Amino acid sequence: MTEKTSWADLAILPILCAMALGLFALSYTVGELTVLRQLRQDAEAAAFAWQRAIEQRIDPALADPLAPLIEGGTDQALAWTGTSTGADVRAVGLLDPAGRFLWQAGPGDVAPAMLSAREFYIYNRMLETKRPQYLVPDSGDQTVRRTVFYLPLSIDGAFLGGLRLDVDQTAVASLLRSSERARMTLNGLLALIVLSTTGIILWRRIRERRSAEAHVRFLAMHDPLTGLPNRAQFNTALTTALDRSRCHASLLAVICIDVDNFKQINDTLGHPVGDAVLKGIAERLVATSGRNATISRLSGDEFAVFLEDLGDSGAATRTAERYLRMTSIPLMICGHELICTISAGIAMAPYDGMTAGTLMKNADLALYRAKADGRSAMRFFTKDMARDMRRRREIETALRSALAREEMHLVYQPQIDLTTGELVGYEVLTRWIHPQLGTVPPSEFIPIAETSGLIVPLGAWVIRTAFKSAAAWEEPATVAVNLSATQFRNADLVDMIERTLIATGLPPHRLEVEITESVLIQNTESALAMLRRLRGLGVSIALDDFGTGYSSLSYLSRFPIDKIKIDRSFVLRIGEDDGTTAIVDAIVGLGRSLGATVVAEGVETYEQLAHLRAIGCHQVQGNLFGEPRESVAYRQPEVHRLQSALLTVAG
Ligand code: C2E
Ligand code: CA
Ligand code: CA
Repeated sequence: MTEKTSWADLAILPILCAMALGLFALSYTVGELTVLRQLRQDAEAAAFAWQRAIEQRIDPALADPLAPLIEGGTDQALAWTGTSTGADVRAVGLLDPAGRFLWQAGPGDVAPAMLSAREFYIYNRMLETKRPQYLVPDSGDQTVRRTVFYLPLSIDGAFLGGLRLDVDQTAVASLLRSSERARMTLNGLLALIVLSTTGIILWRRIRERRSAEAHVRFLAMHDPLTGLPNRAQFNTALTTALDRSRCHASLLAVICIDVDNFKQINDTLGHPVGDAVLKGIAERLVATSGRNATISRLSGDEFAVFLEDLGDSGAATRTAERYLRMTSIPLMICGHELICTISAGIAMAPYDGMTAGTLMKNADLALYRAKADGRSAMRFFTKDMARDMRRRREIETALRSALAREEMHLVYQPQIDLTTGELVGYEVLTRWIHPQLGTVPPSEFIPIAETSGLIVPLGAWVIRTAFKSAAAWEEPATVAVNLSATQFRNADLVDMIERTLIATGLPPHRLEVEITESVLIQNTESALAMLRRLRGLGVSIALDDFGTGYSSLSYLSRFPIDKIKIDRSFVLRIGEDDGTTAIVDAIVGLGRSLGATVVAEGVETYEQLAHLRAIGCHQVQGNLFGEPRESVAYRQPEVHRLQSALLTVAG
């Protein structure tokens, strides 16, 4: 994550420029003053030398002490000019106390016939102060520099007149200026280097600090894996968006998304692959969302999106459908081609709630329903979902004390051999009668027991109770116990079964465990090991509800399966639907060729029975032969009925 340079960062630049300009101006002023001081000193040195030389020629013994000077005249003065110092004296003039020239030498343009008014004032100031005065005349030409000195001539304190000296400093000035300019350029360069280095250092520091601050802010509000806003940021954004949609009276949709079977990906392929999957899904969500969507990763494999400014709920449907479609394209991760489907639940504001909390809760309920309805699906929130959730919670709470309160009991449903008509065994099914809730069907409480983990103590109770009663049966019929995938996550399962077999005295060959494909999918390696151990004990394995899950043929060859149970939903439609009938035929054929016993569940009609018998299905179970009952006393009348039924269909 990089932070762009903001205009605030650049505020340092004008400050540095101003500092540079200030330094430059200061250096210029100091330089100029130095040049002027040196020029004055230079002119002064020349003037004082002249003053001394002239004063030596004054003869105090004479009535007119200046006479030798005046007699020498201009020729002598001209000979003297430019002798004493480096400065070039161009004109010399001798003045009486009244400011009149006694004589003067030099070119006409620099040696005036009389003092100008300005010079006259300066001359008088010299007379009053008895100190040398000077003037820098403006020649109108920048390259020319002259200094005119007015020096008093006196003898023993008696004032005789004045000396006017016009010193030409053009050459000296240009020399001094050019050396001063070189110094200034050097200074300027140095200042520039120092300031720009300081500037760059300061600027970098500011940028680093700002980018560190921005990073901390980003981390506080985003998920580090996907870079998407986190839950806190999403909730804040959603609350603001809800205010907006209230103002504009527009629709807003919250979509809660969950990756199907993500735990399985993480467990079987490892966390790096899991992380890559989440990143891949996040990227696809972003790519398939419009500009009105805000996407967040809430936690784990949970994502949420809100869509603003919707015209109708159809827009939310279309977006959710796009999400579902995009996951049908496989993700390529570390050499694995993965199809990670998602489920989505949608809640709409204002219909399903006006606060972020309510909408999120309701979208989550809809998501729950989508998952329960077989995943890779989307559902809109409906009021009955909240009611269902309350019922689930009620059942879960009641389930916790059901065993202790002895509200559960077992029923047994007979399984019949189709060729002999003999009863071969019973499937154990659990029944629950709650004092207030009444009879709660297993299709309702078993999934809740599975997700809440209560299936582990419940399953152990079923095993204990069923083994105990089966061991006491008159007939050596098999007993088939249903085991959930959750129970296979418990490493103690096989040991517990073995201990219970020994404790109850039930021979292992009379036990059959019914598992569904989810056991094989969710725990592959460990499940395989557990199934092998069970088989090693002499227990047989039945694959329940065959045809409803993945029905992957590879499981059948990899796992030690003794029995295949054709799901009731197929048996139900034998003779009514050609496609389903063909599936039943295929499953029977498959089982037979693998050497597994095939059992048809839920047989209710003679027509179903006749077909199953005709295609060579081994066993049947269903209300036609007996509903699940508490007692398993050998039911003579029923067996007679069954045998005559079999004779009927055979005939
Ligand atoms: P399942 O293992 O497929 O059990 C067969 C279900 O079909 C039973 O429903 C049984 O009553 C029903 N059934 C059998 N023949 C017929 C028929 O001719 N017509 C109709 N309409 N239904 C028939 P039940 O007892 O409601 O159990 C539902 C599911 O709950 C079971 O399906 C099983 O998956 C689960 N279950 C029940 N008891 C247990 C248990 O103790 N442990 C576990 N893990 N699951 C259990
Ligand atoms: Ca079963
Ligand atoms: Ca079944």
